[in-house]
Amino acid sequence: MKLALRADLLDFTATPSWGLPTLHGVRFRPDHWLLVDTGRIVGAQAAGSWAPGPDWQQHHHRGRLLLPGFIDSHVHCPQLGVIGSWGAGLLDWLETYTFPAELRFADCAAATAGAAAFLDALLAHGTTAAVVFSTVHQQATDALFAAAAQRGMRLVTGKVLMDRHAPDGLRDDVAGAERDCEALIARWHGQGRNSYAVTIRFAVTSTPQQLVMAGALGRRHAGLYMQTHVAENLDEVKWVAALFPEARSYLDVYHRAGLLHERAVLAHGIWLDAHDRALLRDTGAHIAHSPSSNLFLGSGLFDWQAAMDVGHGVSVASDVGGGTSLCQLRTLADAYKVQALRGTRLNAWTALHAATRGAAEALGLAHEIGHLGEGTLADLVLWDWSHGPVAAHRDAVARGAVPGVPAQDLHARVFAWLTLGDERNLAASYVAGVPRHQRETHSELQSGATAR
Ligand SMILES: [Zn+2]
Repeated sequence: MKLALRADLLDFTATPSWGLPTLHGVRFRPDHWLLVDTGRIVGAQAAGSWAPGPDWQQHHHRGRLLLPGFIDSHVHCPQLGVIGSWGAGLLDWLETYTFPAELRFADCAAATAGAAAFLDALLAHGTTAAVVFSTVHQQATDALFAAAAQRGMRLVTGKVLMDRHAPDGLRDDVAGAERDCEALIARWHGQGRNSYAVTIRFAVTSTPQQLVMAGALGRRHAGLYMQTHVAENLDEVKWVAALFPEARSYLDVYHRAGLLHERAVLAHGIWLDAHDRALLRDTGAHIAHSPSSNLFLGSGLFDWQAAMDVGHGVSVASDVGGGTSLCQLRTLADAYKVQALRGTRLNAWTALHAATRGAAEALGLAHEIGHLGEGTLADLVLWDWSHGPVAAHRDAVARGAVPGVPAQDLHARVFAWLTLGDERNLAASYVAGVPRHQRETHSELQSGATAR
């Protein structure tokens, strides 16, 4: 099964420079064929000097942008139904919206339908891999793993651990939670593209005994991830300090339980200090920055510059339902605005890298996803450079297609695309070379009938 995709290819070969945009690490290959064999990328050729033979199935998208599939490093499967809910900060958001939504996943049919709808929605927004919160329920987590396996998607998830400060029906206990985790790990961890994550909602909702159990679980099985929230909101930080007076900081609660390591993904990390950032770097743990959620819930402004200075990893995440879109283009546009409010300017390369190669590296998955290098799986997303007349005009200005206006550089064009674009720009998503979402019919894809 050989597939050749013709488009403008954009990915990264190294970490781009922070601040003023340079082309360091940026690989842009306009009008190239990307070659895929049996689900893996096997090369790329300039379309001007090479043409695929009859043994290649050809998808013509000249004038479109082909990127590695976006990676969403923190998102909640059961919360699609509460996205865009009014009037709450983190702690009342959980009580008012999140917990009732998660209770509904106790029902197997609801959880199965919810998992399918969630993964299809990710694909329809240009995200092909994700680190996901399930609910406290074992069966809902089974349903999510099974749905990802059906679609061939790279998924990291786990049952939520929560043995206090949560309503009836959403609490587990230490021994029961450990049994459920062991059963899920045995069934799913390392099966196909699924990996298990020890999933702690946050320090408030787990007893110290449960955190210790979670840390031990992580040491017992090779390659387990850990995901949680940290230092999102000031009221939350105060509550954690009251519950764990012996800890130096919120992050230290997790460190003491042995939960920080190179596969640990911590959402938010807004209210951290220099000690915490050094601890993230030294343990290899990383922050899943969730700008639309932080703005929507009024949580605070993540200090990306400080993360770069100390050298800990940063990926970007939608954090839906607190976040307001599954589309990573919208997430990155919000990330730019968060940094603007901090007085810095996030360039498009750093932003896109954090949603692709940077996220893959932080998750230890750069051999599999995050870039268009040979040997990686062909998780690909295909975008129109513009959608609608305003964006089309803006793109024409950048390209130098408006008479009398000189062309702008590549960064200006990509930044405008990222800022104005969303899921309406998405033409198709491929998972391991298989189209899993497409706006057009299969015959149009093959013929290039609508390619411009
Ligand atoms: Zn979250």
